[in-house]
Amino acid sequence: VDALVLNSDALPLSVVPLSVIPWEEAIVLAYKDAVDVLHVYENWVVHSPSQTMHVPAVIMTRDWVNVGRHLKFSKANVYLRDEYVCQYCHETFEVSRLTIDHVVPRHAGGKTTWMNVAAACDECNPKKGHRLDMHPLRKPWKPTYYELVEKRKKFPMRISHPSWNFYLGWPADKLVLPKKAGAKAA
Ligand SMILES: [Zn+2]
Repeated sequence: VDALVLNSDALPLSVVPLSVIPWEEAIVLAYKDAVDVLHVYENWVVHSPSQTMHVPAVIMTRDWVNVGRHLKFSKANVYLRDEYVCQYCHETFEVSRLTIDHVVPRHAGGKTTWMNVAAACDECNPKKGHRLDMHPLRKPWKPTYYELVEKRKKFPMRISHPSWNFYLGWPADKLVLPKKAGAKAA
């Protein structure tokens, strides 16, 4: 279980990927009084020799953190850019079946950059191998942070505490709520 981390403007530090930290780290920050705790897991307290504390569900930085809107180049973000569609057979796959394909193969000088990678399923990637005559559905491009956030909203978001969505503003039908809270999963 994690705590959602908000910037001092009450927006998540990042959505792709979502800015969360393990609850143990959130406890330490709260204990040090380094962040404001906006929501807690109501039925979950931890004890230290000197005090009892609810586990934070949402924390907010005291000072504005200039995160910029630089988009991290990562497998997860490439899959999201391509909307989990294999760029060769055009089918949608679970992340566990996706791989990163170098459109221009590495041995031919292809780089690992936004402009040269595409999502490929675990069957198409070996088929393509070093071939240069198989082309991705869409020519790879470098998305913006905001472009990926919008794409991300088309897919389910699993949240650990119902309060998270107040800050995320996720489409209701794409929200997967925690079972513990007695809420129905989307
Ligand atoms: Zn495929």
